[in-house]
Amino acid sequence: MWYVSIFQSLLRNSISLATFFKHEKIVPSADRHDTTGQYTPANHGTNGTLLVTLPGYSQTIDAMTMAAMKQLPEFPFNPDMGGGDVLGLGWVQSSIANGFRSSSSTMYLRPILARKNLHVLIKATVTKLFQTGSKNGKPLFRGVNYASSAGG
Ligand SMILES: Cc1cc2nc3c(=O)[nH]c(=O)nc-3n(C[C@H](O)[C@H](O)[C@H](O)COP(=O)(O)OP(=O)(O)OC[C@H]3O[C@@H](n4cnc5c(N)ncnc54)[C@H](O)[C@@H]3O)c2cc1C
Repeated sequence: MWYVSIFQSLLRNSISLATFFKHEKIVPSADRHDTTGQYTPANHGTNGTLLVTLPGYSQTIDAMTMAAMKQLPEFPFNPDMGGGDVLGLGWVQSSIANGFRSSSSTMYLRPILARKNLHVLIKATVTKLFQTGSKNGKPLFRGVNYASSAGG
């Protein structure tokens, strides 16, 4: 759901979908099953940092759900929840790969924790972003206001 709401927000705000595709990389599911028909490849990135998979292991309830869906037209098959249409039943996509959650923390922050110019503040809440300039016609935000408490 979160994934779809980001997708819809990007569409609403006319932000380039290339930006969205760039952050995502679809990887094989844990059991390496054939995922053909379980998502729409054209809706997804293949070279990004955030790893996304289809379900790794089928469940007994999967076939039952598919059978019920064919009997109940109010629950149509949705070929891709990440395609911008959230209604219906379909295969969930997870930001998980190789047994680990793929998040902004694991994929963007942890790989650069050793940088000398990186300082991580805990129990701090960013309250405002500052535009510090622009590059190639796009705004750069390299400054923040923050409050030193968990609640802001
Ligand atoms: C309704 C719902 C549906 C979901 N659906 C899916 C799904 O379909 N598939 C799937 O894989 N996962 C799903 N998830 C899980 C979620 O997307 C993952 O748990 C994942 O952790 C998100 O990673 P993230 O790094 O983007 O965000 P988070 O793990 O939420 O990390 C963001 C961090 O930023 C911090 N933060 C936020 N604002 C500030 C601020 N102003 N200043 C400082 N720090 C701040 C937060 O405290 C948090 O620690 C869902 C979650 C929810 C709630």
